[in-house]
Amino acid sequence: MSNSKARKHAKQTASHRIPCGFTPKDQYTSHPNISDYFGANVFDFNKMDSIPSALKERMIEVSQSGQQLSREHAEIIAKAVTIWATSNGATHFCHWFQPLTGGSAEKHDSFLSLNSEGKPINKLHVMQLIQGEPDASSFPHGGGRSTFEARGYTSWDISSPMFLQEGESGKILCIPTAFVSYTGEALDIKTGLLRSNAVLSAEVVKFLHQLGKSDVDKVTVNCGAEQEYFLIDKSYYHLRPDLVMAGCTLFGSLTNRNQQLNDHYFGKVPHRVLAFMQELDYELHRMGIPSKTRHNEVAPGQFEIAPIFSNANLSADHNQITMALIKDVAERHNFVALLHEKPFAGVNGSGKHLNWSMCDNTGRNLLSPGDRPESNYRFLAIVAIIIEAVHRHADAIRMSIAVHGNDHRLGGNEAPPGIISVFLGDTLTNIYQAIMSGKDFKSSDLGMIDLGANALVHVPKDNTDRNRTSPFAFTGNRFEFRACGSSQAIGFPLTVLNSAVAEVFHQSSDLLQGYLAQGMEQKQALLTLIKHWHKNSSAVVFNGDGYTDEWAKEAKKRKLPNIKSTPEALQILQDKNASKFMVDMGVFNFKELEMRFNVMLEHYNLHRQIEIRTLLDMVRQYVLPAAINYKGKLLTVVCNGQQAKIKTEVEKKLIDTLETLTTDLYLQHNKLQKLEDRWSDDQKVNGEMLANSALPMMRELASSCNQVESLIPDDLWGVPKYYDLLFIR
Ligand code: ADP
Ligand code: MG
Repeated sequence: MSNSKARKHAKQTASHRIPCGFTPKDQYTSHPNISDYFGANVFDFNKMDSIPSALKERMIEVSQSGQQLSREHAEIIAKAVTIWATSNGATHFCHWFQPLTGGSAEKHDSFLSLNSEGKPINKLHVMQLIQGEPDASSFPHGGGRSTFEARGYTSWDISSPMFLQEGESGKILCIPTAFVSYTGEALDIKTGLLRSNAVLSAEVVKFLHQLGKSDVDKVTVNCGAEQEYFLIDKSYYHLRPDLVMAGCTLFGSLTNRNQQLNDHYFGKVPHRVLAFMQELDYELHRMGIPSKTRHNEVAPGQFEIAPIFSNANLSADHNQITMALIKDVAERHNFVALLHEKPFAGVNGSGKHLNWSMCDNTGRNLLSPGDRPESNYRFLAIVAIIIEAVHRHADAIRMSIAVHGNDHRLGGNEAPPGIISVFLGDTLTNIYQAIMSGKDFKSSDLGMIDLGANALVHVPKDNTDRNRTSPFAFTGNRFEFRACGSSQAIGFPLTVLNSAVAEVFHQSSDLLQGYLAQGMEQKQALLTLIKHWHKNSSAVVFNGDGYTDEWAKEAKKRKLPNIKSTPEALQILQDKNASKFMVDMGVFNFKELEMRFNVMLEHYNLHRQIEIRTLLDMVRQYVLPAAINYKGKLLTVVCNGQQAKIKTEVEKKLIDTLETLTTDLYLQHNKLQKLEDRWSDDQKVNGEMLANSALPMMRELASSCNQVESLIPDDLWGVPKYYDLLFIR
């Protein structure tokens, strides 16, 4: 079948699809009630009769404190989970972990064991629960392991519950684990996150103790990750090698109607998509993932899902499972889900908003403005600390979201720019300004804000003035970090953010101790602390439209970094001054940072290389042949016209236009090809070449492809168009 016939066929298939129902897997079929099946696939030790209540308490303690569980206790858990998993249909188990390139990794073992008499039994040995030794030599390690040890091991993360993964024909027990080298270097995403959660907790507790909050002994980082994605009909997928190879389209001319009417956003969810969303939520809820919100996003074909927030470690695991489930369930509904940051040029890309906050063990959200002045000065100081952290480590925070797909998006029309700034809203901004100038501040329409003698700061709880263009925005009781890419593991950006904030808390405790020792009242000490940080860091506060050129200019004046590409951003990992805070906070050592630099840069380079090669192939195999085919048809008309003495001026003009376009295309193709041939052994050189030379050339080439696409008759064009892909029926 020719490409254009295949495309026509795919269109037929796609347009005749009907919504797919699904059969719930449990007894709650007739009246689905989420609370009946929520967490059905999650091992909840609290519900296990075979686990003594003392051990249940110990499990809670261990999972909150990060301590070790004794072998004897682990044995009881191993037995209980074996019975639970196998009686729920699991035949295999695996250590489930998050390698550095994102995604999750697993290696299955069956529960089969032979007892002393050679009889088959189900067994998960305690050591198989606690530790695994995946033959992981192929996992990315950035040269790390060769310098210590060949192998790494996975170790059970007690704080994230075990769960069952359901395949078409069987279930697997997944044991969430961290993946480290024999000498303890973090080879994964989770380990750093756990360390950063712990250090942030310790630093904030210390700070709160200075303020007399002796009831606090732990602080939890919470995160709610809003996940954006695109759905396209499955029938088109294999007709576009770029989607298969790179997860995004590498060219495609934009439809006249795209997102300018804003009619997709929050619009009625298409029936087929709704059927998919129903099943996705069902699966997520069975996995104990508190999926809450779903809606159409801004671009046609784009959607979002968000859970109720949970602690950062769980949230990071859940987001991985969610991404995997989105893809799986989409397939069952004859869709392909695209989690790429920029699958279509010209319409919005996809990100992941990380809603981030800290909560103490008494249940106080430390980012919630309270009702009393005492709590509000604390709140204002904590926000000032976070602003200082973002200002000081904007480059590292930018680095944490550096990934090839995000480079297509950041700085684009719809995405936060490469400049990290903080949105506070008018109320908070004014309060800080008042504090800085030592003046009273009163505002009639924003509630009571009075910093006078008997200061009572009343911060309106719902600061709804939300600026969607800010990469880091205060949204009432949390910050929303919006620059994270849709395909990324959220654990790494959370790790960097936690470390940056922990560092400033550490210094703040010392400062506060000094102020209090000088005899300052608590309120005065907090105000002094706020002033201390805010005088420099207020430069990072920006409430305006972050997508404008004026902001880029203004940011430059304010000396805020504007890091445009991934290779540039990754250099922070090699810059000891810029990345030392993560070492000081005990989150990574320099070797681990170097490892991340190598892995992330190589990851970027290889992905970009795949994109380039795919684009070049598609130009030769699809675009040029289609243009030549059309030219041939026109030539026939011109020749026939000459014989019949009929004018063929339009045909000749079209041939001329095609000639110019294909010549450009061919030259651009060769230019990019030549560049690609310059691939070096030095990944830094490659990164620089790809970001600064290849990417602009790819855009140029894509634009020529789009012109050809627009000129050629639709029935001679074999590559599914944006028109086909974006408007799901
Ligand atoms: P938006 O309108 O910003 O897109 P959504 O409802 O899509 O809001 O997502 C908001 C996310 O923020 C949810 O995951 C929600 O649970 C989470 N969230 C709410 N409060 C907090 C908090 N205090 N800390 C962290 N995340 C929070
Ligand atoms: Mg949302």
